[in-house]
Amino acid sequence: MSKDNITLPAPFDAHVHFRQENYGLQTAVVYHEQVFEYALAMPNTNPPILNCTDVSQYNQAILKYCKRLRPLLTIKLTPETTPQTIHDISIHSSFQCVAAKLYPEGVTTNSEGGFTRPMLMPLCKALCDVLDTMQEMKWVLCIHGEMPGEFCLDREKEFLYVLRDIAKLFPRLQIVLEHITTREAVEFVQLFKNVNATITLHHLMTTLDDVVGDKLNIHAFCKPIPKKPRDREYLIRAATSGDPKYFLGSDSAPHPLSFKQCGCAGCFTAPGLIQKLTELFVEWRAVNRLADFVSDFGRRCYSLPPASYRIELCKDEWTVPGNIGAFVPFLANQKMKWGIVQPPIRV
Ligand SMILES: [Zn+2]
Repeated sequence: MSKDNITLPAPFDAHVHFRQENYGLQTAVVYHEQVFEYALAMPNTNPPILNCTDVSQYNQAILKYCKRLRPLLTIKLTPETTPQTIHDISIHSSFQCVAAKLYPEGVTTNSEGGFTRPMLMPLCKALCDVLDTMQEMKWVLCIHGEMPGEFCLDREKEFLYVLRDIAKLFPRLQIVLEHITTREAVEFVQLFKNVNATITLHHLMTTLDDVVGDKLNIHAFCKPIPKKPRDREYLIRAATSGDPKYFLGSDSAPHPLSFKQCGCAGCFTAPGLIQKLTELFVEWRAVNRLADFVSDFGRRCYSLPPASYRIELCKDEWTVPGNIGAFVPFLANQKMKWGIVQPPIRV
């Protein structure tokens, strides 16, 4: 092994959209397969993952394309979800469903049927009953933290009031505020022991300027929308801080080009993801914190075992493809400085 190479415990992606068959599933899984030991699959497929049968079928669909990747499953919470749903899923051992995701109504892709503002402020009883059961069953609550009806740049900040209520009412519930984008969210996470946050590659790299500052860049368009340079600085500081509350959730979310051209939100960041993060952490003089961010801290939050293998990155110039089938990666046509040495190192 060259002395310049970097080895990392097998990464864990705490937030990925594998989509469904005929909508990128195989492509999405195959790209994750190359890097991640575990990945938490989001439930806002079409149709969504709502119950035990859905979880079981989705697990099978993902496993069809997996060799070593271990999918972790989630369900989408809706006003119809009951404590029984959580119990029913928990007794199954044929898949690992470890979290439920709360989507406010209409704030992102396939979030229809989520929770409306009146159901969140104050928290409705149906949701409280389910959160109580999740707390008892040691599930993780993942949240897309944007308040419906607010101005788009303020939605995350305004949602923090709801998050405060949940964190206070359920102090033993492990909560992950997903894909944070603002200084306010970075700071809020510090206030509660049970609140953590995922950070994406694209929010570490972009501001609103990269989306709409010049020509509209549909491939950088995502929810929550990237914010100001100062917010991005806070995200970089959080990701490189060595604080276990912040860890990688890529939110890699492929849409076929024709859907992106129609305005669908989501960045397909998987191709080049770890390679670019390595480059950035080197640039920020924080490469000693990279393993924590991409593997160890997320595993700790989700009570996963230590990595069973390590991946090795080497200095290797290559270019991310302009397209992969119908999908255009976030880093399309960009030169990467780091490559992955295959096969992985067993530990
Ligand atoms: Zn997402």
